[in-house]
Amino acid sequence: MKGRIHNFNAGPAALPLPVLEEIQAELLSFRGSGMSITEVSHRSKWFDEVIEDAVARVRRLMKLPDSFRVVFLQGGASMQFCMIPMNLLPEGRTADYINTGTWATKAIKEARIQGKTIQVVASSEDKNFSYIPKNISFGADAAYVHLTSNNTIKGTQWASFPDTGGIPLISDMSSDILSRPFDPSPFGLIYAGAQKNLGPAGATLVIIRQDMLERVPEHLPTMLKYTTFVEKNSMFNTPPCFAIYTIQRVLKWLEETMGGLQNMAELNRQKADLLYQTIDRTGYYVGTTEKESRSVMNVTFRLPTEDLEKVFVQKALETGMGGLKGHRSVGGCRASIYNATPLEAVKALVDFMEEFARRHG
Ligand SMILES: *Cc1c(COP(=O)(O)O)cnc(C)c1O
Repeated sequence: MKGRIHNFNAGPAALPLPVLEEIQAELLSFRGSGMSITEVSHRSKWFDEVIEDAVARVRRLMKLPDSFRVVFLQGGASMQFCMIPMNLLPEGRTADYINTGTWATKAIKEARIQGKTIQVVASSEDKNFSYIPKNISFGADAAYVHLTSNNTIKGTQWASFPDTGGIPLISDMSSDILSRPFDPSPFGLIYAGAQKNLGPAGATLVIIRQDMLERVPEHLPTMLKYTTFVEKNSMFNTPPCFAIYTIQRVLKWLEETMGGLQNMAELNRQKADLLYQTIDRTGYYVGTTEKESRSVMNVTFRLPTEDLEKVFVQKALETGMGGLKGHRSVGGCRASIYNATPLEAVKALVDFMEEFARRHG
């Protein structure tokens, strides 16, 4: 569409154009209410339908068994870093954490500042987090195992999840939630800040298995207990209505237009392959991660010099492609290609990369 760029931002990130158009079209009067969705009560039938439908779609898309509860919280994924140990790591027990980069490191820090005992059972810090650890042994009595399924900044992703021998897995899926199908049954909790692959910032999707709720201590502040939000269907207090509404529209698009997670995963794989093949073929770009750990969502690469990286990002923007600068902590370039990034955007980027390599190589 005229005036819009190909958006490769890491987060907040691209939303599907049909969803934005739908929101625009119904903004002034939502479903005949004479009000926008941001103006209606969160206790109204209009909003109730939105949130119920969002929850139902998450359940269907992810094929969640009945034992899972789906809620929308606030405070971002970062709030979950503290809520998880607070709610799910009882006194006298320990939990296992896997450190695969910036976000995992922050989750570890938030558990430790509460004085909780945790073990870092695996880490890829020795090689600047450029790979996903293998052959991990877990503590026999660990209360849970925490991992980050996709490392947004470093550009690595778990291709499959480790066998924890029955210890509940907890995963930060902020940057790859609903990008591919997987078996949810080993998970005790899954969480994702919405602004990468689900919708706008302001809501966090939390999927929690019923038995985990039995661990929640009584003495916690009401707003920091999972049970509060599960019991009140995400509406103990005013939820982030506009964010949840947008998420509901994205879920509908994912289910009805894109055909669900299997199709989405195939398209995501196709987009990532195009980029990685260009990186490997030209020899001009260098991928920053080990090949078998490469992320399908965040493609990180370097150019021969930092000056050329600056020119690359600038020229790309002039050509209508934004968000290609790597995270400030790692430098280089990064193309974030979440569900909403169309194949055409990736094709345009690949053409640009080949042309740039010819001119500057
Ligand atoms: C962006 C991101 C976060 C931080 O999310 P907030 O919603 O800003 O707190 C945490 N984990 C991962 C994997 C992320 O990509």
